[in-house]
Amino acid sequence: MIEMRSDTFTLPTPEMLTAMTEAELGDDVYGEDPTVNELERRSAELTGKEAACFFPSGTMANLASVMAHAPRGTKAVVGTESDIWLYEAGGASVCGGVVYEPVPNRPDGTIALADLAASFPADPDDPQFALPSLICLENTHNRCGGAVLPLDYLAEVRRFADERGVAVHLDGARVVNAAIAAGVEVAEITAHVDSVQFCLSKGLGAPVGSMVAGSAEFVGKVRRLRKMLGGGMRQVGLLAAAALVALDTRERLAEDHANARRLAEGLALIPGVEMDPDTVKTNIVIFKVTDERFTWRTFLASVHQQGLAVTEFGHGRIRAVVHNGVSAEDVTAAVGIVARVLKEGPTAG
Ligand SMILES: *Cc1c(COP(=O)(O)O)cnc(C)c1O
Repeated sequence: MIEMRSDTFTLPTPEMLTAMTEAELGDDVYGEDPTVNELERRSAELTGKEAACFFPSGTMANLASVMAHAPRGTKAVVGTESDIWLYEAGGASVCGGVVYEPVPNRPDGTIALADLAASFPADPDDPQFALPSLICLENTHNRCGGAVLPLDYLAEVRRFADERGVAVHLDGARVVNAAIAAGVEVAEITAHVDSVQFCLSKGLGAPVGSMVAGSAEFVGKVRRLRKMLGGGMRQVGLLAAAALVALDTRERLAEDHANARRLAEGLALIPGVEMDPDTVKTNIVIFKVTDERFTWRTFLASVHQQGLAVTEFGHGRIRAVVHNGVSAEDVTAAVGIVARVLKEGPTAG
């Protein structure tokens, strides 16, 4: 099976498995796991922040970050296409008493400043209004096809947030992809935000984990919240060891971007597929099947039968994600499968 449902399907490399067996371990809740401490130091350095904290998942990393920034009863402004709004089970409302305010994402993953401004009440002294305390951005933007937010846009949001006295959190699940695609350092992106979470378990290829980075004071808060949420783990250097290899080999993501681009170009040539390869900037390819013999369901089933796993992605779209378990040959084969299925029509049953 060519597995393109997600870059979360990456399996640890032999180098990661070796690093895991050789990792020096301790109790991380006591702050005594040297491998975790090293990963936290390296992650702070990568993002240009004072400190960082290892989390079991991106969801918990975002949750703790939102809770650390946003007092109960205040608003976290989030994009309508964001992971925090759509895919994280409403955690900050449930656990933190935070009010989400979803505002439209544009196709390039940005949120218009005018829409951000509209989420602030005209009269902040009027007691009926919940007040925004936090703006959340996402980079790369998953539901916007792995779009990379422009640096000058991030600078504008930073200025806007400073004027209004609110914080900015970046859901940077794939911020390393963003940096590599834009040819900049991760820290040039994260310089514009107060905090960032990034996933080790997506394209970076580690089996488990996410990092939150920010000021030392902020990271102290999220570390307490992590314990409260049940995410304080013990000899978690086992996982941090794989993550350190993932960071050392992060330039590899450029291969995924090249493969994704080739996949998009191949798909764009197939009659019955709607795909603009110029929209593909990183490792996510979103397309539509316009051939009326298919529904997204019958398309997914038909390609699956031929050995290709992709996923439905809202608004009738299909998502294919390229990662270290997908080779250049797999990309060629995947294009061949889609072409064959669209030529032959849906598979019965
Ligand atoms: C995957 C993802 C998350 C959540 O990470 P998990 O480790 O799956 O909880 C958050 N934001 C974005 C944009 C993601 O793609």
